[in-house]
Amino acid sequence: MRIKTLAASLLIIAVTTSQTAVAQEKLLNLYSARHYQTDEALYANFTRQTGIKINRIEAKEDELLERIRNEGAKSPADIFLTVDAARLAKADELGLFAPVKSKVLEDRIPANLRSPDWFAFSTRARVIIANRDQVRTEDVQNYEDLANPKLKGKVCSRSGSHPYNLSLMSALIAHLGEAKAEEWARGVVGNFARSPKGGDTDQIKSVAAGECGVAVSNTYYLARLLRSEKAEDRKLMEKISIIWPNQKSFGAHINISGGGMLKSAPNKDSAVRFLEYLASDDAQRYFADGNNEWPAVSNLAVKNPALDAMGKFKADSLPVATLARNAASAQKIYDRAGWK
Ligand code: FE
Repeated sequence: MRIKTLAASLLIIAVTTSQTAVAQEKLLNLYSARHYQTDEALYANFTRQTGIKINRIEAKEDELLERIRNEGAKSPADIFLTVDAARLAKADELGLFAPVKSKVLEDRIPANLRSPDWFAFSTRARVIIANRDQVRTEDVQNYEDLANPKLKGKVCSRSGSHPYNLSLMSALIAHLGEAKAEEWARGVVGNFARSPKGGDTDQIKSVAAGECGVAVSNTYYLARLLRSEKAEDRKLMEKISIIWPNQKSFGAHINISGGGMLKSAPNKDSAVRFLEYLASDDAQRYFADGNNEWPAVSNLAVKNPALDAMGKFKADSLPVATLARNAASAQKIYDRAGWK
């Protein structure tokens, strides 16, 4: 957990209270589950444009939600920003968000990527990756194929409790039904090359090294390596095929990054300005160019060779609310299947 500019803001409070004539410092308290180095520039640009300083606390989504609940009406949090549709919906369900009425947000964020209480600012896909020498791409065209006994000892994964995998399972429950989804999970666990560990980038590296034949990863981690200045990163990607899953059925699983204003937000004006900023062309380009995500705003021209290189694909069109609804069942299925 990091408190970015706490020291600086404490200093500001000290200064402003000692000089009552000084105008009140504009602040935004951001509780964020995003964990990307490139977001520094996204936030710095907001402060440059608006003069509003950001105090940022970064932690895992469930820790942040717990913290906001414990802090209650006294919470300093203005915005909860996350990388998972289900957690966004959970915050909503817990009644933590305040509705935001904003013409800017309504005009710019497509209706399927927002609710009255929260807004998605980018999307990411969860794709299959395969070691070129070990697994033929024909054999892993669909998520379902990962459970095929042909792949015994070849599948690597991060934890089943991670939001990215819970969200994928939520989608599979919606498309296949709970029984088939559980059968799938058991099949994949039976194919594991090793116990689940690490993050998406660790799976990519293990597939490139041949320790695993196949895994799933969010697209931006792949794009990051494709665009890396380090030759060894780009070399990893030469060992890997990227497969858009389920192109002949429901499409590749999509998740979102988004946020909302908290009901107890002490700086509501700053909070709305921040949400509107995240929907601006400038901010949307940081999501696309900085972290290789797809902008939520449609028809925005982005120049990202790695996103272009990954090509066009059919995305799953499941409503975000469905992913949220199935999240609890998803965890139970992973637990029963032994997907730790
Ligand atoms: Fe991530």
